[in-house]
Amino acid sequence: MNKFRARLTVIFILLIGSSVLAAGIFMAKMLEDSHVEALKNNMLRELRIIRSTIDWNKAGSEDEQIRYYMEQARKLKDFADARVTYIRADGKVLADSDHDPQTMDNHSGRQEIIEAGKNGVGSAIRYSDTIQRNMLYVAIPLQDGGGLRGYLRLSMSLQDVDLSIRQVWLGLIAGLLAVFVLAGLISYRIAFGITRPIERITRVAHQIANLNYKARVGAGQKDEIGQLGQAIDRMAGSLQLQMNRILENESRLKSVLENMISGVMMIDRDEKIVLLNRSAEDILGFSAQELLGKRFNEAKQQFEFTQLIRECIDSREHIRDEMIFYFPTERILEINLSPISQADDEWAGVLIVLHDITAVRRLERMRSEFVANVSHELKTPIAAVKGFAETLLAGALNDKETARSFLQIIFDESERLNRLIGDILELSKIESRRIPMQFSPIHLQTFVSNCMKVMKTEARKKSIDLEMQVDAELYMEADEDRLRQILINLLSNGINYTPEGGRVRVRVEPAGISDPGSGDPAEYDRLRFIISDTGIGIPKKDLPRIFERFYRVDKARSRSSGGTGLGLSIVKHLVELHKGTIRVESEVGMGTRFIIELPVIH
Ligand code: ADP
Repeated sequence: MNKFRARLTVIFILLIGSSVLAAGIFMAKMLEDSHVEALKNNMLRELRIIRSTIDWNKAGSEDEQIRYYMEQARKLKDFADARVTYIRADGKVLADSDHDPQTMDNHSGRQEIIEAGKNGVGSAIRYSDTIQRNMLYVAIPLQDGGGLRGYLRLSMSLQDVDLSIRQVWLGLIAGLLAVFVLAGLISYRIAFGITRPIERITRVAHQIANLNYKARVGAGQKDEIGQLGQAIDRMAGSLQLQMNRILENESRLKSVLENMISGVMMIDRDEKIVLLNRSAEDILGFSAQELLGKRFNEAKQQFEFTQLIRECIDSREHIRDEMIFYFPTERILEINLSPISQADDEWAGVLIVLHDITAVRRLERMRSEFVANVSHELKTPIAAVKGFAETLLAGALNDKETARSFLQIIFDESERLNRLIGDILELSKIESRRIPMQFSPIHLQTFVSNCMKVMKTEARKKSIDLEMQVDAELYMEADEDRLRQILINLLSNGINYTPEGGRVRVRVEPAGISDPGSGDPAEYDRLRFIISDTGIGIPKKDLPRIFERFYRVDKARSRSSGGTGLGLSIVKHLVELHKGTIRVESEVGMGTRFIIELPVIH
């Protein structure tokens, strides 16, 4: 842009300078012409006066004539202050105020003489070698009764004229220089005024090109350049608006992608991984950094998964599959691969959506296993009832003793069936969470001792000691019926799996004390229930499974004690409904401890 300004300045200077120079040359020429013209007129007047004052018909020999005219010429030179020459009609010089006429050549060919002969007046400017100066010659003819006698010529040096012309030139050059400087300054200012807004616009355009959409030209003049600036500002404004919209959309899409539970992965036309959201990172066990930009078959992926992508790329068709992944943990994934096509229907890559369906599949498996288990559990007592009833019908009724014992078995088995169905219903009720929790304050000492009372007869039958250790000031908030169910289930297990003469104990103590030193009951936020017995214990290998439905360590023993295998799983669910935890510690032959922790306030 500075180049443009310099060019503009030079053009201005040249324009102004050349016009000033032309005017100067014109003026100097005019001056010279008018000077020479005035001088010429003056000389012409003097010539006419001289012509009329002198007798030009002097008789005598040539020498006498020369002498006479020479004398006149010398006199006239003083009068006219110019060189005076008298030339005879044939061109011979008869007199000259400054030179010897005998040495001078014929003058008939001189321009002023020829002109004078033709027009009555002749003039010429010539460089005189004699005095080495520009000279002005003016000549008139001398007429005498119709005949031409000769020419009278005056000549003057143009030194004065030249001098004054030179002065004019000097002044002109000085003036011209001043004008140049002035014109330079002015044109620079003008050029600056023109180029500055253009420069500003260019700068802003550069900034916009460099993605700075906030750049503006700002208010300028009302001319075309100002309008250009405004147009650029409007363009930047709309670019900024559009950019903001794009960014907003992008961040919206990004947050949708990032917060999706499904894993999303995109492979472009060059088979490179170009997108991977956070869920996909979690599901695949690789960070986006590790995978982005890599070809899908170069990334360390499960072989079948890579093959599936290849299949989708080759077939360009939607593929849905389920696959077990072993890294980072074992999971079942549902994989959806869809070819992406662009607006022009051209294939642009593959979009992969991953769902972790491990939990869904596990639940389905559990459900079907449960149904199988339930059917199996129901079948046993029904088979017993049916078998003994058949035997009775076949004639066993007659033997009163046998019939009685058979009927007792039928009764026990139908009891068991009843309990089983009751437990199954209970479990499904808890699992479906149909019945809302009803929290109420519970005084634990009273509560535990009431539960103990329920189990007393049962315990006495086996001479088992029931003990409790509960402080009188312990209270908590819980669903009383459900808490009772928990405790009675665990107490009945304790009694069932403890041989005669054993002991079952319930202990309740504060847990999660914020300030253990104070011992103030108001300071704890959890309560710990410990139900321990001195029974047969549970082998280590079975410990992790005893909360599963229908899981029993010893099937026969459980059945003989009237167990359904559902008690602990009901307990676990009830504890979780109270936002608590349950764990078990046991040693075979020594006894078992169930430890439950429940929050005090809900
Ligand atoms: P069950 O109706 O058979 O008692 P549970 O779900 O209550 O079913 O218990 C599951 C299994 O855990 C029982 O069959 C038993 O083997 C074991 N078990 C539960 N409580 C005790 C305990 N206090 N001592 C020893 N084993 C126990």
